Amino acid sequence: MSAPRTTALPASPLVESEDRRALREAVAALGRRYGRAYFQRKARANQPVEELWSEAAKLGYLGVNLPAEYGGGGAGIGELAVVLEELGAAGCPLLMLIVSPAICGTVIARFGTEEQKQRWLPGLADGSTVMAFGITEPDAGSNSHRIATVGRRDGQDWLLSGRKVFVSGIDHADAVLFVGRTEDARTGKLKPALFVVPRDTPGFEYRPIPMELTAPERQFQVFLDDVRLPADALVGDEDAGLLQLFAGLNPERIMTAAFTLGIARYALDTAVGYARTRTVWDRPIGAHQGIAHPLAQCAIEVELARLMTQKAAHLYDAGDDLGAGEAANMAKYAAGEASCRAVDQAVQTLGGNGLTQEYGLAALITATRVGRVAPVSREMILNYVAQHTLGLPRSY
Ligand SMILES: Cc1cc2nc3c(=O)[nH]c(=O)nc-3n(C[C@H](O)[C@H](O)[C@H](O)COP(=O)(O)OP(=O)(O)OC[C@H]3O[C@@H](n4cnc5c(N)ncnc54)[C@H](O)[C@@H]3O)c2cc1C
Repeated sequence: MSAPRTTALPASPLVESEDRRALREAVAALGRRYGRAYFQRKARANQPVEELWSEAAKLGYLGVNLPAEYGGGGAGIGELAVVLEELGAAGCPLLMLIVSPAICGTVIARFGTEEQKQRWLPGLADGSTVMAFGITEPDAGSNSHRIATVGRRDGQDWLLSGRKVFVSGIDHADAVLFVGRTEDARTGKLKPALFVVPRDTPGFEYRPIPMELTAPERQFQVFLDDVRLPADALVGDEDAGLLQLFAGLNPERIMTAAFTLGIARYALDTAVGYARTRTVWDRPIGAHQGIAHPLAQCAIEVELARLMTQKAAHLYDAGDDLGAGEAANMAKYAAGEASCRAVDQAVQTLGGNGLTQEYGLAALITATRVGRVAPVSREMILNYVAQHTLGLPRSY
C-alpha cells in the first residue's frame, strides 16, 4: 500500500494560501485574547468594543481589503472575510466590519473622486473612522426600487430628504453612506445616488430602535429633512449610482456570510467541548448519536458554506462582479441557514446551560437570525436564484 500523499496543494478558492492561513491564525489569536465574555459585557452595556477594534486596527486587520496607497492592506474581500470569521469564531462578531471597510470602503475606493478617497479611506483603513450604511426604508424594505430618499440640487449644494430604518451603528459612526436618488436631468426620472453624510450634519436625526439583540451595535431609524450637503457629498459620478450600489452588494453578502459562519463555528466549538465532557449517564453526552450526528451534520453544512463564501470572495477579488453576484448570494444564504441550525443545535447540546449567560450561546440565536433577514432576506435570494440561475419567471 502506498503512503498517503502529502504534497502541498497550490492555493485556490478551495485551498487557502499560506499567507491567508497565517492571517487566520493571527486574527484568531487576537480574538481569543478578548473572547466571548468581553464581547458580551460590552454588548450588554451597549458599548462599542473599542479595545478590540483599535487593536485589530493597529494590526492592519480592519482595512486589509482597502488600497495600500490610502493606508489599507492592499488585499481583498477574501482577507477581510477571514478577519470577520475568525473574530466571530472567537466569540466577537464585529458587525461594523461588514459596513465600514467592506461596503463603504469598497464603494469609495472604486467610485469615489480622488478628494473623497483622500478624505475617507485612510481613516476607514486604520479604523479611526467608522462609516455606517443606510439603504433600508420603512416603505421600501426588500424592494429597493421604492427607495424614496431624494437628493435635490440647491445651487452647488444638495438637499437630502427621506427616512431610513435599521441602520446599524450610527451612534458610534463618523458618517453614514446613504442610498438615495437624484433626478436625471435628461429624462426627469429618479436614479440611484450615494451620499456621505457626516453624523453631526444639521437636519440628520436618528433614534434607536429597541431590538431583541445582545450586540454592541444598535439599529436606528433615520430622519433626513432637507439636510444640506456640499456638492462633494455625492459619491463619484452622478450617473454611476447603480454601479456603486452593486459594487457594495457583493462585499456585503460575502461579509455577512463570514459574520454568520464565525458565529456558527463559535457555537459548534462550544457545543463539542461541552459534549466531550458532560456526563449524565455513564459516558459523555457526545457519545450519544442523538447529540453527535446533528453536530456532525452542522459541521458539514458550515464547511460547505465556507467553501461557497471563499468561492464568492475569490471571484469578487478576481474582478468577476457578475460571477461573484450569484456566488455571494448563494454563500450568504448557505451561511445563514447553516449558522441558524448550528446555533440551535449548540444550544440544545448544552441543555439548560445553552440558555445561560455563562456560555454565551443564547444571544447567538437572534444574532444568526439576522443573517437570514439582512442585508437581503432568504426569500429574496431564493427569488434571485430561481430567476437568474434557474431561468424561472419572475414572481413579483
Ligand atoms: C440587526 C439588523 C441590522 C441591520 N442593519 C442594516 C444596516 O446597517 N443598514 C441598512 O440599510 N439596513 C439594515 N438592516 C435592514 C435589513 O437589510 C432589512 O431588514 C432587510 O433588507 C429586509 O427588509 P425588511 O425588514 O423591510 O423586510 P420586508 O421587505 O418587509 O420583508 C418581510 C418579509 O417578506 C419577505 N418578502 C418580501 N418581498 C418578497 C418577495 N418578493 N418574495 C418573497 N418574499 C418576500 C421577506 O423575505 C421577509 O421575510 C438591518 C436589519 C437587521 C435586523
